[in-house]
Amino acid sequence: MTENRTAYIIGASIAGLLAAAALSDRFGRVVLLERDDLADDERGRRGVPQSRHIHGLLSRGLDAMETLLPGLTGEVEKDGAPTGDILEDYQWLADGHPLPRVPSGLRALSATRPFLERHIRTRVAALPGVEFRTARTVTGLIAAPDGRITGVATDAGDLTGADLVVDASGRGSRSRRWLADLGYPEVEVENLDIGLTFVSRYFTAEGQDLGAPLGTLSGAYPEQPYGMNVARVENGMVQLTISCIAGSPPPRDHDEMVALAERLEADVALPLLRTAEPLSAITSMRFPREQRVRFDRMDRFPDGFLAVGDAVCSFNPTFGQGMTLAGLQALLLRERVDVGFLAESAKLADVPWAMVSSNDRRYGPDAVPDPYTKRLRAALPGSPDLAKIYLSVANLVLPPSALREAFA
Ligand SMILES: Cc1cc2nc3c(=O)[nH]c(=O)nc-3n(C[C@H](O)[C@H](O)[C@H](O)COP(=O)(O)OP(=O)(O)OC[C@H]3O[C@@H](n4cnc5c(N)ncnc54)[C@H](O)[C@@H]3O)c2cc1C
Repeated sequence: MTENRTAYIIGASIAGLLAAAALSDRFGRVVLLERDDLADDERGRRGVPQSRHIHGLLSRGLDAMETLLPGLTGEVEKDGAPTGDILEDYQWLADGHPLPRVPSGLRALSATRPFLERHIRTRVAALPGVEFRTARTVTGLIAAPDGRITGVATDAGDLTGADLVVDASGRGSRSRRWLADLGYPEVEVENLDIGLTFVSRYFTAEGQDLGAPLGTLSGAYPEQPYGMNVARVENGMVQLTISCIAGSPPPRDHDEMVALAERLEADVALPLLRTAEPLSAITSMRFPREQRVRFDRMDRFPDGFLAVGDAVCSFNPTFGQGMTLAGLQALLLRERVDVGFLAESAKLADVPWAMVSSNDRRYGPDAVPDPYTKRLRAALPGSPDLAKIYLSVANLVLPPSALREAFA
């Protein structure tokens, strides 16, 4: 039901767009305020530097997006993005162990991040009551005398009259500072140092054997702190992303990428690097630590204000959970926009946070060994059923307890 209310959303990236999709049938007017000019973002834009690196979409996230924007998957596929089964159509390597490629029933959509975002944006822009204000930077929150947030300050003047302001401005969100300016206590932040660097490049897919129809995804592990991921994406392109964890030195140029692939005996990435035509420059990005912002734990929090996406949870990107969490939060907004959103949203983040943090504690000077995970991953090649459960948990489709029940 459309209501005579106005929502401002700070940031028109994945979390902001999905929040807008969710709110558009609850609010008569939904205004997305975006710092970037969105006109030309084919290979990524300034406000989303991570978009130049592989963005795997979990099966649960794809389902959430499809629920919010019915028909989206078909549109992205029709425009050239490959789809398939997450287990059967990728070759996965977990701690170096190849997973059996059998059907899992988990859907995969393999697109670059700018391509997916553009399709979502087109759909959201067509929703009734949704407006975009681009090249507009939000600089603060505006509160009424009773403390309720009623608008935002921007570099082009104040915008008031909001019934709700949603922060979807990503990992660099200034909300904590803005709340402090309004007299709220410091917001607790949980951090976990992870020392990741991502190095990526696009290539043409023509003539390349990617190990499986959608590519080969080989994760880092303590004995081998480099991930080598090769994904077929839209329109005949392949994206290669090397993830370097726990401060492992990243390759700085083509020759160093080849040398690393040789050293790791990366049998898909190496021929790609040697023979495929590059379609972009090499880009790299550091991701020093994961963070979880605990707005849900504040004693006092203003009415009329919520936060979603990376502004709240920015976890180890190699788990590919960010867009999925944004989708799940958007679905929750539909139910809980007026009461209880922050507490319920924190519960959504608990499982992914537990998964990444237990994995990531396996690295670094104070590493906590995890013999269970080691044994589990070593058992995957010999058990298709276990591999299905493993990926269902990783895709946030089954709870982690399902794995414990299947493999003690
Ligand atoms: C290297 C890397 C790889 C990743 N890989 C994956 C993956 O494989 N799968 C996955 O699901 N997730 C991945 N993620 C996470 C994913 O990118 C995010 O979870 C997802 O983009 C949702 O983020 P967001 O919309 O909250 O913020 P962002 O995408 O960071 O967008 C924030 C938006 O807010 C705008 N903005 C910022 N400040 C202001 C302001 N003051 N005023 C107005 N606008 C503002 C920015 O311009 C931008 O458009 C990865 C992240 C990184 C860093």
